[in-house]
Amino acid sequence: MKILENVLASSLTTLHIGGPIRYLIEVENKQGLCEGLAFAGRQSLGELPVFILGGGSNILVSDQGFAGVMIQPLILGKEKISEDSVHILLRVGAGEILDEVVAWTVEDNWWGLENMSFVPGKLGGAIIQNAGCYGQEIAEVVESVEVYDREKEEFNTLSKSRCGFTYRHSIFNTSYEGRYIVTSVNLRLTKDGFPNLQYKDVTNHFGDRVPSQKELREAIVGIRKDKGQDTSQFWTAGSFFSNFKLNKDEFETLIAKIGSNFSKEKAEELRDLVEKIKAPSDGGMIKVSAAWILDQLLGLKGMSVGGAQLSWMHVLSVRNTGNATAGDCMELFKKVRRVVHEKTGLLAVNEPYLVGFTKEELDNYFALD
Ligand SMILES: Cc1cc2nc3c(=O)[nH]c(=O)nc-3n(C[C@H](O)[C@H](O)[C@H](O)COP(=O)(O)OP(=O)(O)OC[C@H]3O[C@@H](n4cnc5c(N)ncnc54)[C@H](O)[C@@H]3O)c2cc1C
Repeated sequence: MKILENVLASSLTTLHIGGPIRYLIEVENKQGLCEGLAFAGRQSLGELPVFILGGGSNILVSDQGFAGVMIQPLILGKEKISEDSVHILLRVGAGEILDEVVAWTVEDNWWGLENMSFVPGKLGGAIIQNAGCYGQEIAEVVESVEVYDREKEEFNTLSKSRCGFTYRHSIFNTSYEGRYIVTSVNLRLTKDGFPNLQYKDVTNHFGDRVPSQKELREAIVGIRKDKGQDTSQFWTAGSFFSNFKLNKDEFETLIAKIGSNFSKEKAEELRDLVEKIKAPSDGGMIKVSAAWILDQLLGLKGMSVGGAQLSWMHVLSVRNTGNATAGDCMELFKKVRRVVHEKTGLLAVNEPYLVGFTKEELDNYFALD
């Protein structure tokens, strides 16, 4: 366990934004994790708030920083547990970099993660929000998740069904937010898979050809780089806005509003699109592409506040063009949210976790008037 003081969040996050973290504790094993939590709970520190940090690719830390303890599980390890003729069971540490895990599985031709190539962050972080892309979600290959239960103060294994995975959600970021710390993940992959070419970018890339798993991974890495999703080149937290999830009535209201505020053609375009981007965990809800709303409907690409800009390459990304503050990002979020609400009635939701902001600041950024 290593305890560091006043490390700038800007050095820990892919947005390169954020003030000092009072304490950053890096832990490499379960014992270190318990020690880190004990440190945070010390009376002498006034029981500081705890935040678990993964790869910092889905968080925005306030310019004032975080006056608490960030614990970063750097628990590593990639091992094969068992296999039969169809499946392979793997156990992977939460601190492993997701894309390295994907590369490892593709190397051995185990199917199930290839479409998640080049998603930044660590495996633990991917579990929390059921990360996914190009028609695949991590939940599809999770067998069980090993956790530390902060309420019961014990290590435990949660079967996939107990994790409550849905689109970008799980019990870890909803009903039991903050209770569990992921230490490792058991993944069940398939030996004889078939490429998932559901998404337009991927289909366009290959045309009628059915690619190998390796070719699919390479293509997705290329597509993502072309969209400005290389964190070594562009400073973002990926999508800053979540897709909208609507019930049938809400969706029909939206269609009617787009029909009257824009055009019948636009409304039909959206109707076609939702069919194409259905995901396994939509759970009966209708997923409306936030990218389509912001770009195709409202033309917001390039909108900016200070150093924060809606990326020209990927409209959902708020990009730090060099000197953006967390305040700039949130003012931009507010501006976009207001336009979206005014024109469509939809309420835009932030995808990155907001860390270290006061209630007053958040109330202001989420205000619609
Ligand atoms: C360029 C770019 C592209 C992206 N593309 C995608 C995409 O296509 N699909 C997608 O789903 N996401 C995408 N993201 C978002 C992000 O990469 C994923 O959500 C990723 O899974 C977050 O992992 P992380 O380790 O960085 O988590 P962090 O950002 O560090 O943390 C995210 C949340 O998880 C919690 N957490 C992290 N680790 C643990 C743990 N071990 N135990 C308990 N809680 C933990 C944190 O407390 C926080 O609440 C993208 C981000 C970037 C920068």
